[in-house]
Amino acid sequence: MMAHRERYVLALDQGTTSSRAIVFNRQGIVIAARQLPFEQHFPKPGWVEHDPEDLWASQLEAATGAIAAAQIEVGQIDSIGITNQRETTLLWDRATGKPVHNAIVWQCRRSSGICKELREAGLSEMVARKTGLVLDPYFSATKLMWLFVEYPELRMRAERGELMFGTVDSWLVWRLTGLHRTDPTNASRTLLFNIRQGHWDTELLTAFRIPEAILPEVVPSSSAEAFGRTKKELFGIEIPVTGVAGDQQAALFGQACFEPGDVKNTYGTGCFALMNTGAFPVPSSHKLLTTVAWDLGQGYTYALEGSVFVAGAVIQWLRDQLGLVRDAAESESLALSVPDSGEVVLVPAFVGLGAPHWDSEARGTIVGLTRGSNRAHIVRAALESIAFQANDLLVAMERDFGRPLQSIKADGGASGNSFLMQFQADIAGHRVVLPEVQETTALGAAYLAGIASGFWSGMEDVATNWRKRREFVPTMDDATRKTMIGRWDRAIAAARGYKKEGS
Ligand code: ADP
Repeated sequence: MMAHRERYVLALDQGTTSSRAIVFNRQGIVIAARQLPFEQHFPKPGWVEHDPEDLWASQLEAATGAIAAAQIEVGQIDSIGITNQRETTLLWDRATGKPVHNAIVWQCRRSSGICKELREAGLSEMVARKTGLVLDPYFSATKLMWLFVEYPELRMRAERGELMFGTVDSWLVWRLTGLHRTDPTNASRTLLFNIRQGHWDTELLTAFRIPEAILPEVVPSSSAEAFGRTKKELFGIEIPVTGVAGDQQAALFGQACFEPGDVKNTYGTGCFALMNTGAFPVPSSHKLLTTVAWDLGQGYTYALEGSVFVAGAVIQWLRDQLGLVRDAAESESLALSVPDSGEVVLVPAFVGLGAPHWDSEARGTIVGLTRGSNRAHIVRAALESIAFQANDLLVAMERDFGRPLQSIKADGGASGNSFLMQFQADIAGHRVVLPEVQETTALGAAYLAGIASGFWSGMEDVATNWRKRREFVPTMDDATRKTMIGRWDRAIAAARGYKKEGS
């Protein structure tokens, strides 16, 4: 009887604001999903925390909820894949399993002083060479240092081997199966992992004063045995956990970006662009990050990564702060109600600018206003700013990688805006392609799990399952593109110059 029943893969997607679980079938199609938000804690300005027990409880409830919604039995779940908000730092007691502090979220800036000291001590070059990252509070190690500086007793306990450190994937795996493990995509975001040699790095651990005893074992992102099986009391039976990857890398996999030069860009609150660079880590001369894309157990695949801080969020700003649109979707019809932005350029540098500019002093600006400028021009300029910022990232990637990219696979909430997607294709001079299945992050985790378990035969199955929903082909002529990019570059200079010249 059992043999005839369909089997599925369950993906757990532990994000920054919610925990989600999705049941996928063999074609990579969503059968059912469940999503639970949890509380955000802001103890001080610029600080962000999550309660680890909230992360766990919401994730478990999402998992059981998704299985129930799919109207299947637990026995039909072949395997579980995990994807997660990256860099967020957890520390818990090995004996009791109790967290010793709230999770310090990737967005949290509390360790900026520590980062400054490390930069002044001359560590930036060594850190970049070994980890592909920059000394920024974003990444895990300085969050951990902050805990040890603030609570010296934690350092003593860590040195005695009484504590466990993990990013969110490790926390979930440990609660699910009892093993203390992570994968290279998550490890590569900690500042402690040598991405070239594939191990925790003694020199980095010494520099950051992190005791090795607290670290999880690093195992491949797709692995039949290494993450263990869920404890029986959780789902009634043991289910193998066979795939783990950080959210952006999982999306790259879910978008089937398997060839060097393949790019995905997620258009959400911000943008996250990743380019597959193949078997070699490509150092960036344009302030991009170098990171591990995945490890299927046969050597690492690497990626270049860049992010835009304010992308879809500029549309929220138009709605909530300026009242120019009723909802995000209206931005599209308004933008299309005018033939162009009337030379208005908007730079949403509300929190500074990310790669390739990395300018924390830059501030938002609108330039080119005339008496004829209206609401539609400003809304159009806001949407265009998302594409211009993404284009700056893509150009940096092409230069670092040394060859042109093929196409841009898009996903995320704002990829539903067809004006934006067409403008992106025009300004980048590349095709923009939307996938049939929008849930690329969870799908990537499911594929990593299902490949290890034998549910899918390999990456060929993923490539076959990946289907195009829509494609946007560049139609803008070169002269117009050059003129518009020239205007954008001058607007960027204005956004960067304002604070430096002023008070
Ligand atoms: P995240 O996962 O980062 O929270 P989502 O992928 O859910 O974000 O996308 C939400 C973002 O996309 C919001 O910032 C919203 O303003 C923007 N957005 C959603 N729909 C549209 C649209 N049609 N046009 C432009 N922006 C949109």
